Amino acid sequence: MAAVAVERPPAEEKVRTLKLSGHVGFDSLPDQLVAKSTQNGFTFNILCIGETGMGKSTLMDTLFNTSFESNPAPHTLPAVKLKSHTYELQESNVKLKLTIVDTVGYGDQINKGDSFTAIVDYIDKQFDDYLQEELKIKRSLSSYHDTRIHACLYFICPTGHGLKSIDLVCMKKLDSKVNIIPIIAKADTISKSELTKFKQRITQEIKTNNIHIYQFPTNDDTMAKVNTDMNSQLPFAVVGSTDFVRVGNKMVRARQYPWGTVQVENESHCDFTKLREMLIRTNMEDMREVTHQRHYELYRKKILETMGFTDIGEDNQPVSFQQTFEQKRVEHREELQRKEDEMRQTFVLRVKEKETELKEVEKELLNKYDARKREHVDEKKRYEELKKRLEDERAEFMKRKHQVSTQQLSSHAMTLGKKKK
Ligand code: GDP
Repeated sequence: MAAVAVERPPAEEKVRTLKLSGHVGFDSLPDQLVAKSTQNGFTFNILCIGETGMGKSTLMDTLFNTSFESNPAPHTLPAVKLKSHTYELQESNVKLKLTIVDTVGYGDQINKGDSFTAIVDYIDKQFDDYLQEELKIKRSLSSYHDTRIHACLYFICPTGHGLKSIDLVCMKKLDSKVNIIPIIAKADTISKSELTKFKQRITQEIKTNNIHIYQFPTNDDTMAKVNTDMNSQLPFAVVGSTDFVRVGNKMVRARQYPWGTVQVENESHCDFTKLREMLIRTNMEDMREVTHQRHYELYRKKILETMGFTDIGEDNQPVSFQQTFEQKRVEHREELQRKEDEMRQTFVLRVKEKETELKEVEKELLNKYDARKREHVDEKKRYEELKKRLEDERAEFMKRKHQVSTQQLSSHAMTLGKKKK
């Protein structure tokens, strides 16, 4: 079959802009896109990292204005476990498949050194699952349930001092894998002036330790001002609640104390609405995009590079996937051949060693046989000499016996003769 050559304009060729003389209809493309996306629905996956009892489940219920019904975790787990729950939510005609992942037992162990390991493994596993789907011959990415983490809410304990070392280590390990949004949990337990200083200290520590936290995008003019402002207010100080309190003629989410009421959605009480606005309303799509285009790309690049794939060869020329695959196959075959040769040589050497060993044993046995044979011959000779001596002695004895009996006979005859006379 003849190959069809597709002519492409050279890169430097100018693309002409034409004015249409009437309506054609491709201005509906964005609408088509919206309709298709709405029909397919969206996925969004949130990872909540924070110590047990930090208010993670309460905040999720507050954020999505529902009750996800989770059981409180004990403080006695021997290791950190990640538990995910997926929910189908619908707002107007938009469907959202939401997965909330909780880090059960985080910070509860005596040795907190590797609390992050389970989290890193979980994030990588979701990337790997996606990569495997991409590499399949018959892939179905449109219906694939994407479980990659889009937003990681890091719950900071409201100590008023600064970040704990477990926070710094964990955030550093994750900053190239997920969009980290640090939040100060249970912000109603810290006073306003303390909170300002606490925020400054946290921001300073994050900067000093070179931790990259997620920045709300500022490249879109419509959102640039708001997002820049919000970036400067990170980490958000949030309050969560499952209780409703009547304020005026409205029921609002709040926490009630003997001295007053903390309203979750009141901006002068906490940053909850800012978090909800930024996370869900304004930047959800950006986080999905950053996850796919930055974090997943980085993971994919690393994995393919460790597998030996590269875009540019030693001679600075582009290398295709096929070429690398062929080269890898050749290398693999050579490696197998080398191993086979090595094994054969080892086998031959072992056989030779065994042969020499057996020859030595045979020689030893022959020597033993010869010695025994010589002993036997000597013994036989000795017995024969003994036998000969015995026979000689017997002959001598018989001779003597005969002589004695002859003497006795003649003396008897003489005695008889004398009596007759
Ligand atoms: P998780 O283990 O991190 O999921 O924590 P939970 O959501 O189960 O909350 C543990 C406890 O903290 C519960 O008694 C909540 O009522 C309480 N709590 C949750 N959020 C807040 C908050 O913002 N402020 C205060 N003071 N308490 C909170």
